[in-house]
Amino acid sequence: MPYIDPHIHMVSRTTDDYQRMALAGCVAVTEPAFWAGYDRSSPQGFYDYFVQLTEVEPKRAAAHGIAHHAWVCINPKEAEDPGFAREVIQLLPEFLDKPNVLGVGEIGLNKNSKNEMAILEEQIAVAAEHDRLILVHTPHLEDKLKGTQLILDALKRDGRIRPERVLIDHVEEHTVGMVLDQGYWAGMTLYPDSKCTPQRAVDIVECYGDERLWINSAGDWGHSDPLSVPKCIAEMKARGHTQKLIDRITFANPKAFLSQSGRFSV
Ligand SMILES: [Zn+2]
Repeated sequence: MPYIDPHIHMVSRTTDDYQRMALAGCVAVTEPAFWAGYDRSSPQGFYDYFVQLTEVEPKRAAAHGIAHHAWVCINPKEAEDPGFAREVIQLLPEFLDKPNVLGVGEIGLNKNSKNEMAILEEQIAVAAEHDRLILVHTPHLEDKLKGTQLILDALKRDGRIRPERVLIDHVEEHTVGMVLDQGYWAGMTLYPDSKCTPQRAVDIVECYGDERLWINSAGDWGHSDPLSVPKCIAEMKARGHTQKLIDRITFANPKAFLSQSGRFSV
């Protein structure tokens, strides 16, 4: 059964992972720009990373029959120096014009700081000016609820952003309701032992339904699992959920959201 993993950092994964994902049914991935595990020393470091996302990874993915699309931005963790961040933001339009780039992401907040908020607002404006989709990273643990509220307020404040063109990722039980109620899409990130487990994600689907919800592995260089979407599919099957529901959460929903870009194909 084909599925889409709409948020995974394949630059951090091996070719064997692409192979295993393809065997499990993955037909498409989308890869947001994120923190590499260290701070880049220059905007040129980001330029090279964006080239990797838009030119190198699509080729690695295609070798396994997987479609690859990217998102570009400066992540919140490296947005503490606004001068530096603005130099990176100036690089974005060149990449946003590429046919395999879906939008601006993953932008958001990490520690809910003033500098992070300023750079978040500026990148929301870039998405609005270029009429692109937005993929949002929400903070972890004790910062998540407040950070999610601050992000939703910032999106609203811009005045040009249509909620149905924004995916708020890393939602959990205490944030999914406010995201869906305000008309945004919600992403559940499946992690082996932090964030949302496959079991908790299925609980959330059972409580909130299948509208504007997707799941992703967000696999990266840390402890994470590029096969967590198929593992969540197994959990849904074990609980007796229908093929229609599974298809909706893991294929039809991400396809519907991403297709709003006019650039997504699978
Ligand atoms: Zn991510």
